[in-house]
Amino acid sequence: MRSSRTIDLDKIESFNCIAWILKNNLKNENGNPIEFKDHTFLIDPYLDNTPKQVIKKAAQVGWSTLAIIRSFHLARFAGANIIHTFPSRNMSKDFVVPKIDPLIARNKVLKDLVGVDTVALKQVADRYIYYRGSYEQTEAISISASILINDEFDRSNQKVLKTYRSRLDDAKRENPDLGWEWQFSNPSIPGYGVDVWWERSDQKHWFVKCPYCRHDWYLKFPDNIDFDKKVRICAKCHRTLPRHSLVKGRWVKKKRDSDISGYWISQMFIPWISADKIIDDSLGDPEIFHNFTLGEPYVSKDTSVTREAIIKCLAPGYNPRTNVAIGVDNAVNKTYVIGNKFGIFEVGETEDWAEIERMRNHYNAIMVVDANPYPHIPQKMAMKYPGRVFIHYYQQDKKKLGIIRWDSQECTVRSDRTKVIDDVVASINARDITFNLTERQLEDYIYHWRNVYRVIKPTPMGIMKPTWEVIEGKPDHFAHATVYWRIAMEMTLSSGHIVDAPRPESTRSSAHPTATADMTIPALDLKEVAERAMRKR
Ligand SMILES: [Zn+2]
Repeated sequence: MRSSRTIDLDKIESFNCIAWILKNNLKNENGNPIEFKDHTFLIDPYLDNTPKQVIKKAAQVGWSTLAIIRSFHLARFAGANIIHTFPSRNMSKDFVVPKIDPLIARNKVLKDLVGVDTVALKQVADRYIYYRGSYEQTEAISISASILINDEFDRSNQKVLKTYRSRLDDAKRENPDLGWEWQFSNPSIPGYGVDVWWERSDQKHWFVKCPYCRHDWYLKFPDNIDFDKKVRICAKCHRTLPRHSLVKGRWVKKKRDSDISGYWISQMFIPWISADKIIDDSLGDPEIFHNFTLGEPYVSKDTSVTREAIIKCLAPGYNPRTNVAIGVDNAVNKTYVIGNKFGIFEVGETEDWAEIERMRNHYNAIMVVDANPYPHIPQKMAMKYPGRVFIHYYQQDKKKLGIIRWDSQECTVRSDRTKVIDDVVASINARDITFNLTERQLEDYIYHWRNVYRVIKPTPMGIMKPTWEVIEGKPDHFAHATVYWRIAMEMTLSSGHIVDAPRPESTRSSAHPTATADMTIPALDLKEVAERAMRKR
């Protein structure tokens, strides 16, 4: 039996990548044999020679290994030069050294093929595979290839990828059979990156047949999850789906007439990923859950604060200026935000700590001041006004003690940076924060907010986490001062916390009065404003 199989594989290995893998007993970068018993969903993609392909995928599904092995196979047997791109130059180093080099080292058949061998270039037989970042336009100009593989398409610089694509067109003129282009990525937002290609593709879904009721469909969250038993279930008869029915699934096209081959890989059908883990992920950040667990694009409206969002919160006019809270961002220029439950009524900047102290005393306010980078004077103020002035530190809430943790003994308050900014941004976008100010008075304030945005990034450990960043070289002090004000507000409201996570959509339906360009202001319903403030508690 064995010898006859070997003969068959010899014949077909040149056009069949799986035959090549099995014949040569290829191992993955960890030294385990590459197998297709659990990875049945990878069989079709390993054999798919459609020139245009898109893979909208969850994390950790074995796609990187597939891309590397296939590129070696195509360089060797299809005579293709290949460009394999990554989002950044570092990523290339992070990828080639830990993934590709061990793969070569562990597999004699690959090692024997490789000639010139650097981080950015591997010679495979008489062809080349170029590993390139996608942030340097200059890198893209000098090389040409007939197959372009874009890894992490959504997180790459689309302009640079376009340049690589033009290199592909040149090669196509010489070899019309090639000129292939494959995109794969964890998706980001709808209508961008792999999602665009996916929409135009044949949209292959992995269908799983229920062994009990024969219902045959692709797995969806939450329909195919039993949250009590923590297992995958049939969406129709609700019985537990055994592991082997996931493995026995098959790819089903949604659209017949597309020249783009598309695969959607969700962890919902990955046999070695437990339902328990998926449920756990679903309780975390929704963006990460959709992009990296379900392989779905996701947009949260709370990834930024726009001018329009702030304008919708404007309610210029009377504020009683009682029970006042002040947030202060600490820098050479101290940035402050002053307000109470009726709204924020003053924002500004000063170089002088004495002015900050004077304002605090004027309102007898609760004040939260960022500790860094100049902690000395804030610390002195906290000592001078115990229980009224607090020093603030951003500190991740690893032990689930709460987004905001007060220590009145030390006169400090710590908050989880991502979660507390999430909360403030969601509050502005839901119009749950009011500004008793005009648009003109808020010009700098709006500018600072527009410089901050939420992104998902890998930690040094490779775990995807959301974080708030600022556009390089731009100020964001008013955004942080608003966060400190929001924290200070918690102390002014004796009836409890104002920052709770996560909370349902705002129930407010009526629009705020807004200041118009000529500075006329519609009459303000104070009662309504007060009611709104009360509802927040
Ligand atoms: Zn069933």
